[in-house]
Amino acid sequence: MKNLDFYYKKAIKQGFALGAFNFSNLETLKAIAQTAEATKSPAIIAVSEGALEYFGAQFVLANFSVVKKLFKAPLFLHLDHGKSFEICKKCVDLGFDSVMIDASQLEFDENVALTKKVCDYAHKKGVMVEGELGQIAGIEDNLSNEENHFTNPVQAKLFVEKTKVDSLAVAIGTSHGAYKYAGESKLRFDILSEIEKCLPNFPLVLHGASSVDQTLVKSINKLGGKIKGARGVDEKLTKLAIENHNVVKINIDTDLRMAFTEGVRSSLKEHPENIDQRKYCLEGQKGVEKVVRHKIDNLLNSANKK
Ligand SMILES: [Zn+2]
Repeated sequence: MKNLDFYYKKAIKQGFALGAFNFSNLETLKAIAQTAEATKSPAIIAVSEGALEYFGAQFVLANFSVVKKLFKAPLFLHLDHGKSFEICKKCVDLGFDSVMIDASQLEFDENVALTKKVCDYAHKKGVMVEGELGQIAGIEDNLSNEENHFTNPVQAKLFVEKTKVDSLAVAIGTSHGAYKYAGESKLRFDILSEIEKCLPNFPLVLHGASSVDQTLVKSINKLGGKIKGARGVDEKLTKLAIENHNVVKINIDTDLRMAFTEGVRSSLKEHPENIDQRKYCLEGQKGVEKVVRHKIDNLLNSANKK
């Protein structure tokens, strides 16, 4: 099978991106894999440290190899936001295709040192590494979208040269979680272009780019949820970043969580007598499938690229 590097290069040339879909239950994993197969799309299956803890690493690995055998789509297992050398090493040793070392909260030199250490280890075993430079805002870490949090293009070039990292997550105005903006979403395409001038044809990654579909937000709230004021990145902006720039990987987590939650809530509301979890989880799974399909067809343009 072709490796992830092949798809990153192809994505830059052809102006599409791979979805990095996070999963934290089996219905979501299945939804991602079968939609990737149905659309003949390559896809990245992402697990966070939290998801690894929730399932246990061996459980993740076993289930990933099952879906790889069952489905013909090119699927790649990726560690999302590894915070230490140890967790990255563990995933490399387990046979992940790719790991992210997120040392973006450290000073530049420390970020370089830690990222390089992970690259040196992972590359010997043929595993790709994603680094992060600049700080992607999010509800968890109380970061706001301030100028000094954005990726510095000149530093980005130095960072890649020193670490030999394979791809770079950049901060240009996206943010993690469901509450991204008080007003209109904005992406700093000027910074993105500067980064590309410093790093021609280099694979870039956008985190925190969920669109937080307002129809789902309304529906969840109507069904008893409380996610008022949730707002994401306009898909038109993310699409521009994919088509006109070297963004080859888009992380999608919040949108999948919302779809699953909405499916479960509406099923339980409709059938309050039901205690068979297959019935309401299936509705969650269908919701996730719909979102993955929408992203592949309308945002990522990764269908038929396998
Ligand atoms: Zn992220």
